[in-house]
Parts: sequence; C-alpha cells; structure tokens
Amino acid sequence: MSDKHNIVTIDGPSGVGKSTISRKVAAALGFTYLDTGAMYRGVAYYLQELGIIFDDEARVAQSLDSLVLKLLPARDENSDVEVIVSGKDVSRQIRTPEMSMAASAVSKLGAVRSKLTSMQQEIGKHGKIVAEGRDTGTVVFPMAMYKFFLEANPEERARRRVLQLNEKGESADFDQILKLTLERDKNDSERALAPLKRAEDAIAIDTTELSIEDVSRKVLETIKARSFSA
Ligand code: C5P
Repeated sequence: MSDKHNIVTIDGPSGVGKSTISRKVAAALGFTYLDTGAMYRGVAYYLQELGIIFDDEARVAQSLDSLVLKLLPARDENSDVEVIVSGKDVSRQIRTPEMSMAASAVSKLGAVRSKLTSMQQEIGKHGKIVAEGRDTGTVVFPMAMYKFFLEANPEERARRRVLQLNEKGESADFDQILKLTLERDKNDSERALAPLKRAEDAIAIDTTELSIEDVSRKVLETIKARSFSA
C-alpha cells in the first residue's frame, strides 16, 4: 500500500499551472513527479496511430492490452516528462492543442481510465510522488495526506497556455485557445467517470493573481505544517 505521507496530489483544470508547480514541489521535496495527463495524451496518440475511433470502446479496450507506455523523468525542472509509446518518443507530438482535445476525448472512456488508474496506483506504491491531474486526489490516491486543487479564471489560463506555446516557438491564437480551454473544462468536469472536481479534503488555491513561486511556497508550507501536526 502507498503510504499516505508519500503522496501529494495536485489537481485542477487545464492551464492552471499544475505542471510547473508540481515539478517545483517534487524537486523541493525530492519526490518523483507523476504527470497523469501525459499518460492520457500518450493513450490518445497510441489509439490515433492505430486508427481506432475513440467511440468504439470495445476496440479501444482490446487495443489497450498491447499498450506499452513509459514515462521518463523530465531532464530538468523546466521540462515536461518524456513519454514513450511502443518504444517511440512522442513527447513533442502529444503537446499540441489537438492532442489536448484528443486526450480529453479518450479520458472519458472507462477502459482507458481503469487501465491508467491502475498504472498510476502501481507507480504510487513504489516511491514518493507528486501526482498531477484531474482525479488524483479523488480517485487515484484518495488516501493521500496532501491534496491541492488549483483554480484560475479561464482567460488567465488561456493566456498562460499561449505563452507556454510561444515559448516552445509555436504560434497560438488567444481566442482559439480560450475556446478550447472552455471546451476541455466542460468535457472534463461533466463526464460521468472521475470528473474534474476538488476532493473534499483538498486545499483550493486560486492562482489567478499569484506567481508560480507564491503557489509553490504555499503548497510546500502547507505540506510542512501538516506533516508536523500528523
Ligand atoms: O493535464 P493535461 O492537460 O496534460 O491532460 C490532458 C487531458 O487528460 C485532460 O484534459 C483530461 O481530459 C485528461 N486527464 C484526466 N485525468 C487525469 C489527467 C488528465 O482525465 N488525471
């Protein structure tokens, strides 16, 4: 069983700063960063490559038996984890706005969720982790002692996404990204299985007006205070 002290969960909608904060918190604690969204992206890529229509859940379920998905630690605190699907490094391909929408579409399927949830729980058994996603505090690691739910208004999240894409040398249109952000919020929070929502015992942090450093500090201070009082 995972020790509840060994798991930090950071959930929230897209573009809220989860990845950056999770990487910083993991580095400060000496924990491994688990990017569960990267796993959904990897599965979307895998199914697309096989030409499987996401609505065909029976075929999706069958094809997941042959899925070989690996996450390799990020090269440094500012990089994304590396995602290897069937031996191929797809880290770049899975980070496009189209793949974000594809990941959101496959993430509502029961077969995909149960496969990835088991993989994530297995990873959680073998080390100290900071898990980031939509359901890590509610479904994957409900017993985790340190749970956070990040929020920010959609315009600010879209603005951050555009900046992130620009930093990678990609152009992005704010209105288009805002539209996709709202659509993904809707898909992720209205789906029947493991919807995006704050765990009752998660601490909510509105990051709209806060810097990355402010949020990381707040998360780390909360963890420290809780671990002393536990
Ligand atoms: O976090 P990221 O933007 O990489 O996630 C991509 C998509 O994967 C999300 O929009 C969501 O639909 C799905 N996801 C999920 N559960 C998680 C992590 C991600 O459903 N724990």
